[in-house]
Amino acid sequence: MEICIVHYGEIGVKGENRVFFERKLVENIGRFAKAKRRFGWIEVEYYDGIEDKLRKVPGIRYFGIGYKTDLELSAIKSAVFKALPEDFETFKISTSRRNKNFPLNSIEINKELGSAVVEKTGKKVDLENPDVTIWVEIGENFALVYSKRFEGIGGLPVGTAGKVVSLISGGIDSPVASFLAMKRGCEVVAVHFFNKTLHSPDVRKKIVMLAEKLSEYQGDLKLYMIPFEDVQMEIIRIVPPKLRMVIYRRSMMRMANLIAEKENAKAIVTGDNISQVASQTLDNLNVIYSASKLAVLPPLLGFDKEEIISLAKKIGTYEISILPYEDCCSLMVAKHPETRAKKEFVEEFEEFEELEKSAVEKGEIIEIHS
Ligand code: ATP
Ligand code: MG
Repeated sequence: MEICIVHYGEIGVKGENRVFFERKLVENIGRFAKAKRRFGWIEVEYYDGIEDKLRKVPGIRYFGIGYKTDLELSAIKSAVFKALPEDFETFKISTSRRNKNFPLNSIEINKELGSAVVEKTGKKVDLENPDVTIWVEIGENFALVYSKRFEGIGGLPVGTAGKVVSLISGGIDSPVASFLAMKRGCEVVAVHFFNKTLHSPDVRKKIVMLAEKLSEYQGDLKLYMIPFEDVQMEIIRIVPPKLRMVIYRRSMMRMANLIAEKENAKAIVTGDNISQVASQTLDNLNVIYSASKLAVLPPLLGFDKEEIISLAKKIGTYEISILPYEDCCSLMVAKHPETRAKKEFVEEFEEFEELEKSAVEKGEIIEIHS
């Protein structure tokens, strides 16, 4: 019977925390398959199509689909025969031996298994560029044999770093930022601010689609839809156009902090990167982020737009992000917004605390199930 042999990267070296990280990974995989913690790897029950799911689990570095056998050469040999694909001309055996008590070393095992395959199939060994590689792992209690190997996304299991509130705009960047936070072990609570009086049902649909895509990586995900037209109206009423952008972003920060308090989240994540748009000068980011009590983390900090787009395509959010929608904030932004905002100056205009509180209270919470 085939099984999945799951390997994690970084979590293997986390000392005391190791068990905690491994348990979390087992729990996260457990949402869609039976998983068991073993010495240095995780065993997952195989079913058709599970590859696509395992590929999306943060914390998995790579995984194989193959066989678990006794620690005995004859048993390993028959597993190797089973793991061989039907069609190939050249092959290679690649053994790693974690268990130093096994009587043969990895080079000897490669040779033994290699000649057995040659004898049985008449195919050739090619160490440089084989059609198929058979991986053999000599573990503490079992040997593992597989020829199907897949790269995971790496990172750390979701939930090991705690919760963050992630601001999702409907553009290309913020879903990628959320994904990167998940990849570093954060559980994402997504928040979208919209103007109820302007928005069509399409906006809600689009944001829910993005959240659903992200939940493929995280598992269940909570999405807050916050109607903030009252705050916006007030901003339009009292703030000069040049400053509105910075002020409405500060307002979003404060509301995100209110949500973080309810959710017991420890940081705010945004899709900002440096100097991509006018609100993202360092002066403006300083003023915007200082409205947050919690640390604000922008995972895209060092990315170029092309890099963000290619990651968005890879994780599957790009196609959703480019669907047309009305950006609730474009109407209130000046043609030439302030690029060097001063905190003292913007604070003069801010009297929206009550409106912000009530916007958050009116928010709709959508539970996305993966
Ligand atoms: P994106 O592609 O994510 O929209 P952007 O480069 O277009 O980013 P902005 O639109 O200025 O930049 O937004 C910067 C960040 O502010 C976004 O990445 C997102 O985290 C947050 N943000 C902006 N608008 C909203 C909104 N309506 N709801 C929630 N978050 C928002
Ligand atoms: Mg945007």
